[in-house]
Amino acid sequence: MPLHVTTLKRRDLLIAGGLATFGLATGQRAWADDASDANRIALLSDTHIPESADVVARGVNMTANLRQVVAELVGLTPRPSGVLINGDCAYLKGLPADYANLAACVDPLADADLPLHLTMGNHDDRGPLYDALSDQRPQSPVVESKHVSVLRMPHANFFLLDSLYQVNVVTGELGSAQLAWLAKTLDENSDKPAVIVAHHNPQFTPPEEGRPWGGVRDTEAWFATLTARPHVKAVVFGHTHNWSVSRHEGLHLINLPPVAYVFGETQPNGWVDARLRPDGIDLTLRTIDPADERHGTTTSLNWLA
Ligand SMILES: [Zn+2]
Repeated sequence: MPLHVTTLKRRDLLIAGGLATFGLATGQRAWADDASDANRIALLSDTHIPESADVVARGVNMTANLRQVVAELVGLTPRPSGVLINGDCAYLKGLPADYANLAACVDPLADADLPLHLTMGNHDDRGPLYDALSDQRPQSPVVESKHVSVLRMPHANFFLLDSLYQVNVVTGELGSAQLAWLAKTLDENSDKPAVIVAHHNPQFTPPEEGRPWGGVRDTEAWFATLTARPHVKAVVFGHTHNWSVSRHEGLHLINLPPVAYVFGETQPNGWVDARLRPDGIDLTLRTIDPADERHGTTTSLNWLA
């Protein structure tokens, strides 16, 4: 169960027991000031932070991009309830030095009282991550060998899943133990809209013969779990480095842009400033290039439509 000790930095409180809780349930301290918005969360993905700050890939300095975004985050008013990096936090292999650089990049968030939540991508590794960012290590994992948690906000709960299958292998997998935990936890929290978060994209059709699954290979079981529960409204993922919003069987699919490099020339990199409403969510794209014409554009999703 969550641990709440108000003398610690807030970031340290949210991961204990693998069940992160913030918002109404624990809000006495966190939301007492008017400068924060309990329904606002910064959504980042695919930071790909390397061991050295001068490494460049595909024409992008990943460390510089994340530092730029962190500087924007600490200046937000009202302050969001937290910051999520949705996997591929590290460059390629989840090396200890990658996470040391990542820890340095995100350090200003703690000073700004912005809790950080991470999910695991295919370029991450749980052990080195926990060593470098010890506050991410759950005291007692709710799903063995998986890094999962629930973020509780006034207008919705976010369920953070772990789709890391093998380090530096493109395929994603949730697994039956995690899906069982998800089904049970969704049922226990059916009083609010649910937003599901995982690094890998859902993949609804198998790959061509001889090709690996590029997305979640147990998508069929995953989405059966989700579509059977009408309070599940949206699925957030990264992995494809391709900002887009779409629908599948009534669920909103939110594909976050990368903070790092894009794969397609016309795609933006950046992050998404998300604000929950009682009946949906507003997603504002913040591009790395402030001159990008898509910078600041908002996509509004309606849970009831
Ligand atoms: Zn990536």
